[in-house]
Amino acid sequence: MEADYEVIIVGCGPAGLAAGIYAGRAGLKVLLLGEKTAGGEMRGLELVENYPGFPDGISGSKLGLEMMKQAMKYGLEFKLAEVERIDLEKDYKAVKVKIIRDGEATYLAKTVIIAGGAHPKKLGAAGENEFAGKGVSYCGVCDAPQFKEKVVAVAGGGDAGLTEALYLTRLVSEITVIELMPQLTASQILQERTLANPKIKICCGTKIEAITGDDQVKGLELFNVLTNEKTTLSVGGILIRIGLDPNTNYLKDLLSLDSEGFVLVNEELETSISGIFAAGDIRHGSARQVATAVGDGVAAALSAGRLIKLKY
Ligand SMILES: Cc1cc2nc3c(=O)[nH]c(=O)nc-3n(C[C@H](O)[C@H](O)[C@H](O)COP(=O)(O)OP(=O)(O)OC[C@H]3O[C@@H](n4cnc5c(N)ncnc54)[C@H](O)[C@@H]3O)c2cc1C
Repeated sequence: MEADYEVIIVGCGPAGLAAGIYAGRAGLKVLLLGEKTAGGEMRGLELVENYPGFPDGISGSKLGLEMMKQAMKYGLEFKLAEVERIDLEKDYKAVKVKIIRDGEATYLAKTVIIAGGAHPKKLGAAGENEFAGKGVSYCGVCDAPQFKEKVVAVAGGGDAGLTEALYLTRLVSEITVIELMPQLTASQILQERTLANPKIKICCGTKIEAITGDDQVKGLELFNVLTNEKTTLSVGGILIRIGLDPNTNYLKDLLSLDSEGFVLVNEELETSISGIFAAGDIRHGSARQVATAVGDGVAAALSAGRLIKLKY
């Protein structure tokens, strides 16, 4: 039995693409699998200001495309496909995929790098599912037109929430950022920009209990956890950015995960299964930034290369 590939990479966000550049350039036979086109979460970022080398910032989608172009230069194969499961077959990993618009396939690999990232967490408020797509959104850049000239809320006072709120100020008439903790948790620079923006109001220590409306979102039922006071807020939409859940559903029975589902790794970024590595936002302890995802991708590709040399 021969392996089809030396390295299979799951996900083509910054972690997967960086792994692809290093593994491809090292002359390994690599298959890159992504359920969406290049860039991962970066695709929705209008401007990445803190990725080194771009003093004026760079659009996330452009950075993703450039990384993809660089990876493809080293002869990787790319398939638009969702990985559904990974099984162990003797010395190899059998990666089962659903190829978008092209059926199913299973590929054998010597090593696998999981770089599948994470998706936005749900609030768990009443009405959240009912109003999804009717004023409830998880991606400001994607859904911006539906918020145009409305009064809206952003759930989450961390980096992601404030980035989205600042972006939306160009389109909406007013924004209330609602944070459960007693204060904002975003980086200082984002907090300063937010506080200086006259279109943004801040409401901390507040739980969103329900999203209400008719055929569209019309309001929120709020509970102040500091004063136990219940209030309502009229809004035409809500953008939810309260954290991330890892894309690890298909890995639950295979790998050791932490209590939130992020993949546990050692210093080599190897998971509980030898030959399977994890990189980027999907792994436990990640700083969840483009630069750290890139660093992880590089480290995982180097670890995979070392293992292949030693074992095969
Ligand atoms: C609103 C917002 C603002 C941000 N701002 C910044 C910023 O200013 N600077 C910064 O450095 N970072 C920022 N980030 C964080 C940054 O985008 C992430 O840290 C980074 O994209 C993580 O990269 P990744 O490769 O680990 O995962 P991702 O970018 O999430 O990519 C993973 C990819 O894998 C795919 N995938 C998942 N499972 C499978 C599967 N089973 N089969 C096939 N494909 C799969 C996913 O669809 C996705 O395309 C921001 C994030 C958000 C949400």
